[in-house]
Amino acid sequence: MDVAIASAPKPQRTVITSSGLHGVEGFLGSAIQLALLEQQQIIDSRSPDTRVLLIHALNPYGFAWLRRWNEGNVDLNRNFLLPEEEFTGSPKNYPKFNAFLNPTSPPSKFEPYILQAIWLILKYGMTSLRNTLLVGQYDFSKGLFFGGNAPSKTQKILAENLSKWIGNTSEVLHLDFHTGLGKWGTYRLLMDASAQTKSYTRLTERFGADTVDISSTEGVSYQIRGGLETWCQNLLPECRYDLLTAEFGTYPAIRVLQALRAENRAHHWGNSQRNYDWTKNQLVECFAPTSYRTHLVS
Ligand SMILES: [Zn+2]
Repeated sequence: MDVAIASAPKPQRTVITSSGLHGVEGFLGSAIQLALLEQQQIIDSRSPDTRVLLIHALNPYGFAWLRRWNEGNVDLNRNFLLPEEEFTGSPKNYPKFNAFLNPTSPPSKFEPYILQAIWLILKYGMTSLRNTLLVGQYDFSKGLFFGGNAPSKTQKILAENLSKWIGNTSEVLHLDFHTGLGKWGTYRLLMDASAQTKSYTRLTERFGADTVDISSTEGVSYQIRGGLETWCQNLLPECRYDLLTAEFGTYPAIRVLQALRAENRAHHWGNSQRNYDWTKNQLVECFAPTSYRTHLVS
């Protein structure tokens, strides 16, 4: 994990960008951070009291090995439970979906995944499926969206350093970059459902009501356990800490889930390099799609 700080002469506020909390999703956030670094001046002369902090690759293992999860199969955006919360429990339907989500066999290109997924959606409904899959679980350590058994190394590093990195500034705007959720080529800035109305109003005024979304199971976003936003606010209660999860849409959710599922199977139960390679390629395409232009050239 690398950190860069551009400090203003008399900093009042900090803007944070962070990338790669979900490993393989890190290419977009990293590109944004590189673009920032390539600017002659990171500190904007129009707001000289704003300090800029770049946190690169919050999940270095997942980024390096092209996984959404970390070295312990942990989804880091489900690992930031508050000190009083326990790393146990799963959504009530997760055990029912476990056999479909996490088969204990190598992946195959020829299984009827789409039919199986449609059957589950018809049986349980899309909202129930989304709630079950994405909110995080703490009981199936080789399964998708596992939040871990304990605070991760990433969490410990942030707990030790975040306050130091933002210096004495009392206002923070944190953009945490993700991909793979939402409509192709569009983005949304997501806030936790627990976010205060005051900060929602302030941020919609700043970024536009069309762009900022409160997590909901009906729309593009969802309520998760162990997310980074509430944890940061809890760590720095004296600070006005706004965290927006910047989600850039790629492929439909059903295809993204297919890629995650296949790669997880190849990781735990894979029996050949070929399985490993095609599942990695599929995963990278889902989170950092090949551009149309590159397609034409190649
Ligand atoms: Zn993500």
